Amino acid sequence: MTLILRDKAALRTWRAGLGANTRVGFVPTMGALHDGHISLMAQAREAADVVIASIFVNPLQFGPNEDLSRYPRPIEADIAKLEVAGVDALFLPSVDDMYPPGASTFVDEEMVSLPLCGAERPGHFRGVATVVLKLFNLVQAQVAFFGQKDAQQCAVIERMVRDLDVPVEIRRGAIVREADGLALSSRNVYLSPEDRAAAPLIHQSLRAVEAAFEGGERDAAKLEQIGRNVLAQSDRIRVQYWDVRDPESLGAIASVGARGALLAVAAHLGTTRLIDNLLIGGRG
Ligand code: AMP
Repeated sequence: MTLILRDKAALRTWRAGLGANTRVGFVPTMGALHDGHISLMAQAREAADVVIASIFVNPLQFGPNEDLSRYPRPIEADIAKLEVAGVDALFLPSVDDMYPPGASTFVDEEMVSLPLCGAERPGHFRGVATVVLKLFNLVQAQVAFFGQKDAQQCAVIERMVRDLDVPVEIRRGAIVREADGLALSSRNVYLSPEDRAAAPLIHQSLRAVEAAFEGGERDAAKLEQIGRNVLAQSDRIRVQYWDVRDPESLGAIASVGARGALLAVAAHLGTTRLIDNLLIGGRG
């Protein structure tokens, strides 16, 4: 049975009841759970004695014209999936419980959060870092799991944990995809049938650039153009960014060197914004 903890007080009571030697694994989410989320739960199950997930659609990380109000919230189906995944507890707080009126303290990471999605979504990573630090303080897990799907989010959280000495180990889980390559996302349900049919081009653009890299191309601008050209095959896809970046700092690079690169793309299909990425060269 997955125990449902509906506020901070219930979470604290539950946490205090665990033995001092209990290893707690934590998977924070916004719900509308899919196999990408569930793969993180499975990794937590392997790494920890007790697994806790959270579902919180965090208003602080949504911009004024973003999809906060229409974000999918299929909570009964989510709970059923957590039961099947063997998750021990679900933290399901309300907005009022998480953000008491007048809250005036926030976390700003000032390097890796700036480019890419940070440039397109002002305040987004401030919202993410603030809620994740609050969740870490509440849950007090030894290990927490984040998806490589949100590579920049992983980078921001790893920096925050390092810079602020947060006592938690961060692990990244690989991107889970549909058979046609589309990265699983809670936002995929918004796609019209026509946009869903075009969406796999995003992953195809990443693979085309990987192939060009493996064929010897190192020039970042040329690699970016190859990626954009693949997306230009559909007039339904409006590219926000298609960038070759340093895999750690996320800064711009002129060419791909020994460290490899992060290929990062964000695009709109209709009113839906999708992101995807691929690591090339380097360690990966
Ligand atoms: P979200 O509910 O979208 O905030 O995602 C919660 C966690 O699941 C984040 O760490 C995401 O990076 C991760 N995640 C989302 N989609 C995927 C995916 N397709 N594969 C792996 N992890 C994912």
